Amino acid sequence: MHTVLITGGSRGIGAACVQAFARAGWQVAFTYRENRERAGALARQTGALALCADLREDLAVRRAAAEVVSHFGAVDALVCNAGVAEQKMFQDITDEDWQRMLDVNLLGAVRTIRACLPDMLHAKCGSIVTISSMWGQSGASCESHYAASKAALIGLTRSLALELGPSGIRVNCVAPGVIDTDMNAVHSAETMQALAAETPLGRIGTADEVADSILYLCSDRASFITGQVLGVTGGF
Ligand code: NDP
Repeated sequence: MHTVLITGGSRGIGAACVQAFARAGWQVAFTYRENRERAGALARQTGALALCADLREDLAVRRAAAEVVSHFGAVDALVCNAGVAEQKMFQDITDEDWQRMLDVNLLGAVRTIRACLPDMLHAKCGSIVTISSMWGQSGASCESHYAASKAALIGLTRSLALELGPSGIRVNCVAPGVIDTDMNAVHSAETMQALAAETPLGRIGTADEVADSILYLCSDRASFITGQVLGVTGGF
């Protein structure tokens, strides 16, 4: 049986991944930052292993990865999903805002991959999926630090696909469009309607739809796919 570690599994796309992988028969571990109640309820519902680990702390990430290996024996797939967003005009984004954004969205993925990689290299197989955003490809007004962090994840993904391919490890990226999660709760109903109207499929996406694409990329059905960025955007 395969094991997956999903970061930011307590809510939104990460929680949908926990459910999708569990339904597909995977052994699932997930991390969260602070939402103990939701993480505990999801763990009870799915049988997944929930681990509290702030991705800004390298030691916490390494402890979580070690815990997964000691519980399940290995990490076959890693989903670097946890992230934060913020809307601000470029002139108002402080150095601290930039640091926080990159610390979670980019370095959080770096730390998690670094913690899981030795076992994958030893096994000479594995699948890593990073979660970028369509804003990381197109750029985004009033969230330049978020868009830059997501663009950096695409560079990381493509570089690691080249570097780790010879070791049998696939690295891909999913770039969601506008998805119905807490992250978009800051937007008014009018803004969400406008974003849906701009989407060729005429609606915003669901976390389950993103989770299905992530599950596919981690599965053996995607065994010859690496270095790719899969847009799950409704055509946006
Ligand atoms: P949510 O805000 O719903 O959930 C975020 C998750 O990340 C939570 O599980 C949260 O844990 C965790 N998290 C946040 N900060 C940290 C941290 N420092 N350490 C560990 N865990 C952390 O986000 P979404 O589900 O909407 O987004 C998931 C990913 O998809 C993100 O990377 C996001 O950028 C990306 N994305 C989302 C889109 C959307 O429209 N929703 C569009 C494009 C990309 P806790 O519950 O404990 O706070």
